[in-house]
Amino acid sequence: MNTVILIVAAGSGLRMGSEIPKQFLPLGGKPVLAHTVGRFAAAQPGARIVVVLPADGFSHWEQETRKWLPGIRFEVCRGGENRFASVRAGLAVAGPCDQVLIHDGVRPLASEGLIIRVLECVAAYGSAVPVVEPVDSFRSIDATGSAPIERSTLRAVQTPQGFTYETIAEAYALPYHPGFTDDASVVEASGRRVTLCEGERLNIKITTPEDLAVAEALIAAKA
Ligand code: C5P
Repeated sequence: MNTVILIVAAGSGLRMGSEIPKQFLPLGGKPVLAHTVGRFAAAQPGARIVVVLPADGFSHWEQETRKWLPGIRFEVCRGGENRFASVRAGLAVAGPCDQVLIHDGVRPLASEGLIIRVLECVAAYGSAVPVVEPVDSFRSIDATGSAPIERSTLRAVQTPQGFTYETIAEAYALPYHPGFTDDASVVEASGRRVTLCEGERLNIKITTPEDLAVAEALIAAKA
């Protein structure tokens, strides 16, 4: 199978409140993005890896991140103003292939087991969207108050999400819509259904300083 791993890391990370985008912040001594990319390179040594970077992130990638990934070949490109535009830019570099895994650069803890599970699901069903059951209770809110939501109907959606090239290329030919929150939502807008698979609770997305502290602890514990 001709697989392309597309790592989107072109966000500015404003919720982190730091000068450096969160994908470049140090985690256990090396940039978050070096952990993320390294896990995919180790799990799928034969796959092409395309990394989508912010316009001003190329020197950081070359000088601070690549040195942690010796001997691995990458293709890099510049992202866009939202995640959708960044994925589209990465797909243009990827070009036709059999299947594409798309992963957030700020999820540095995806395990090899998860990556393989997603690939197996794509091979069987043409798409794979990893989800986990939430443990909190949830309420919906509006101007009049709040109401509980039945937790058993909810799932938290993660990456990597995987698709056949045909499916994902067709989806990303659509015009941008603000309702596109992830790749699955784009594929569904193109008229196709997606298949869910088991995600991983430790596959956290680094969004706030607290997330970085949790990831530090997990890396130290060799999660
Ligand atoms: O902003 P959010 O946390 O949802 O971003 C998820 C992933 O998408 C991150 O890895 C981020 O770098 C990436 N992204 C991107 N281009 C953008 C915005 C986000 O590649 N314009």
